[in-house]
Amino acid sequence: MSNIQSDLFSKSKTLVPGGVHSPVRSFKGLHTTPRFFKRAEGAYIYDVEDKKYVDFCMSFGPLILGHRHPKVEKALHEGLERGWSYGACEPYSLELAEFLLSKLPHVEQLRFVNSGTEAVMTALRLARGVTGRNKIIKFNGCYHGHVDSMLIKAGSGLAGEAEASSAGVPEGVAHDTLILELGDTEGLKQCFIDHKDQIAAIIIEPLPANNGLMVQPKEFLQFLRDITTANKALLIFDEVISGFRVAFGGMAEVTGIKPDIVTLGKIIGGGLPVGAIGASKFIMEHLAPIGKVYQAGTLSANPLAMVGGLSTLKEMTPESYKKIEEQTKKITTLLANWMKTYNNGQFNMFQITTYSSLFWIVPKENVTKIADIPANLTENFNKLFEVLLDRGIYLAPNAYEVGFVSLAHDDTVVADIAKRLDIKL
Ligand SMILES: *Cc1c(COP(=O)(O)O)cnc(C)c1O
Repeated sequence: MSNIQSDLFSKSKTLVPGGVHSPVRSFKGLHTTPRFFKRAEGAYIYDVEDKKYVDFCMSFGPLILGHRHPKVEKALHEGLERGWSYGACEPYSLELAEFLLSKLPHVEQLRFVNSGTEAVMTALRLARGVTGRNKIIKFNGCYHGHVDSMLIKAGSGLAGEAEASSAGVPEGVAHDTLILELGDTEGLKQCFIDHKDQIAAIIIEPLPANNGLMVQPKEFLQFLRDITTANKALLIFDEVISGFRVAFGGMAEVTGIKPDIVTLGKIIGGGLPVGAIGASKFIMEHLAPIGKVYQAGTLSANPLAMVGGLSTLKEMTPESYKKIEEQTKKITTLLANWMKTYNNGQFNMFQITTYSSLFWIVPKENVTKIADIPANLTENFNKLFEVLLDRGIYLAPNAYEVGFVSLAHDDTVVADIAKRLDIKL
């Protein structure tokens, strides 16, 4: 890297706080400054100095087909020619809604918003509006966007008691969130006793993938289904990452466990800003203009974003899910073998956990809760990140982010990765 990129970052820091519009982009803790990218295609992303990288960040998930899939690009061009925002009813959102609902048997209606955060914000308000209760249970290590009531860490008092993990979140807001460790069934039982008839919902990433990849046993998700039903609380699956990534119907389809409310984002916009909340007609009709739970958006169901989502999803088939998982296995096997031997075993503490097209590089198998994560993860990951970056392999710049494989990561790309790692196939 020449000074061109560090100069851009220096300039950026004078214009926006920390030089970035979302914290993880800042390369905090790394010995190099963020790369500035100027274009992308397929499995590759190019920085402003024309260095080409195999991209495993993939915009943090939305681009399941890879960058600039020709059919998506064509559909977006056609969309542009019709105008890109009306603030009024249009037919394009009907098509996407119909498509999504056809793949989500547990959802009867949905509403589009502009981000995963917005979807979660609305889901929580809806759960409270439907149940007339205030408290929400969330799990340590699950990310639900930057909603005030979800920026929470465990407090020092009773099990479940929480305090804000971000400045600017009022104590009163934190007070209505209860936080538990993933897998803590005893703690959950106690919470429902201590806060009888006050818990509106449990929210969980059914495949926690924002603090590493902490695959949950199906029994735990079933326990959540049962305890919410028994206590007339709602179960919210935040499938912003897992929805349409692990299967069309997300983890609800994979596990056969039906949440009351699902939140979606990322893939359903194909790289344009979209989120959605889905539930039964009964629950959804609590939303304005029919119901008393208010929710709105100037750009909601933006026609161009609808086209981005629909044209992306239309390319997915049951075979695509098999294919992308197969490619993920090939790629992570290559990487894992390379890590065993590189530089006299400098990275041999690592293995790779995968689920569908997601992967996480971590020095331990079967991590299912925060306490399982080794303390020296970041230190070792940062060195690995820099070596791979140098070889033109771009991971998300943080040890706790997962890697995303797309359908563009085909065998030609696998061969290229091998070459970049000096492996003979
Ligand atoms: C990405 C993500 C969000 C937040 O979505 P944004 O579009 O970044 O606001 C919420 N929940 C989960 C599970 C996510 O992966």
